[in-house]
Amino acid sequence: MKNLCLLGSTGSIGRQTIDIIGRHGGFKIRSLAANSNIDRLEQQVNELKPGKVCVYDKEKAGVLANRLKNSATAVLSGMEGLLEIAGDSDNDLTVTAIVGMIGIKPTLAAMEAGCDVALANKETLVTAGHIVMKAVEDKKVNLLPIDSEHSAIFQCLQGKYGPNGDYSSWSGSPVLEKILLTCSGGPFRGMSYEELKTKTAADALRHPNWSMGPKITVDSATLVNKALEVMEAKWLFKVDVDKIQVVIQPKSIIHSAVQFVDGSIIAQIGVPDMRLPIQYALYYPDRLKLDCGRVDLFDLAKIEFYKPEYDTFKGLKLGIDAAKTGGSICTVFNAANEYAVGRFLKDEIGFTDIYDIIEYCMDHHKNIAEPTLNEVLGAEQEAVENAVRFINK
Ligand code: NAD
Ligand code: MG
Repeated sequence: MKNLCLLGSTGSIGRQTIDIIGRHGGFKIRSLAANSNIDRLEQQVNELKPGKVCVYDKEKAGVLANRLKNSATAVLSGMEGLLEIAGDSDNDLTVTAIVGMIGIKPTLAAMEAGCDVALANKETLVTAGHIVMKAVEDKKVNLLPIDSEHSAIFQCLQGKYGPNGDYSSWSGSPVLEKILLTCSGGPFRGMSYEELKTKTAADALRHPNWSMGPKITVDSATLVNKALEVMEAKWLFKVDVDKIQVVIQPKSIIHSAVQFVDGSIIAQIGVPDMRLPIQYALYYPDRLKLDCGRVDLFDLAKIEFYKPEYDTFKGLKLGIDAAKTGGSICTVFNAANEYAVGRFLKDEIGFTDIYDIIEYCMDHHKNIAEPTLNEVLGAEQEAVENAVRFINK
């Protein structure tokens, strides 16, 4: 039995993680964390009986503590609470399914405590990839990808790592020539920039293939998500950005592919169901049964690929430029996007304003090549201030 900490338990990835553990067992869920959804968290406490939970919102934490006063579960709050549950050295695995770069410190705390991490929270790698990957090496912990594309690449690369084929050595694969990072194209694929300008949050929240949390659903519509995933792949698989090619594949059946030095391409194919990559990360290296659907190649009949429209989906281009430059500009790209998407979801700005805000914040940043954690958080603060300035102009 392994001890598990689940950060972001009330969200889309968090709930599916609990579902998978309910099917296969093998984990004692010691702690849970969420931002503010105490009703769902209370249900999870009653079902899973964790020792500790953290509610980031202090006021809501007080309400939950009152409701749970007769239970054995302690209620913590804020960043201190997140760091306490994530930094518990009795944990074997921490699943980071929090949304946004707020996940950086808890992810690092888990690694510092010698705990393996299954990571959905891509914003952490995007903004602090160099710090996180150093912690992976220093603490000799495993970092297992949950993002479906990165899980696909990881699955395609099994046995292809480093001289010993040792995944945890993180030495990169000498036989890997190129990563083919697939992308559905989102709900607005094929539209012009003028059409994008008219899109609302309600339009953007209708993703054709995946059901996910609101922030990543908007990111999938702007294609900013794919830029974040390029950065995520750069860190996870130690490849130059030039070796990562974004390929639009509208049905989301090929979850990504790798090309080797002999020209062979290996792809991972499956139905779009996040439980598969979650399960693979939880039980790695074992492959367990999953009753998700099956891809019928005869039903599929035709499979289409397109190049991304970089001039229309400007966020993808801006993000790939940031990824190539590296350093704190990646934090600015991410933080400006996080802030802009929050405002877009409240219908306070338009769809293409997200791109304009990111561009403005990037233009107004002086890059730091290897930012410290404080400099990463400083770049976030600066980006938010610049985004506010842009919107109020
Ligand atoms: P979601 O909005 O459904 O859930 C987010 C979770 O994070 C919630 O439990 C929320 O309470 C928690 N949270 C937010 N702020 C917090 C804070 N300050 N402290 C503690 N908890 C906090 O989001 P999601 O779709 O599950 O996505 C989570 C992460 O996984 C994101 O980084 C996303 O990019 C990534 N991801 C999601 C999917 C997917 O299919 N949903 C796929 C790939 C990657
Ligand atoms: Mg993805």
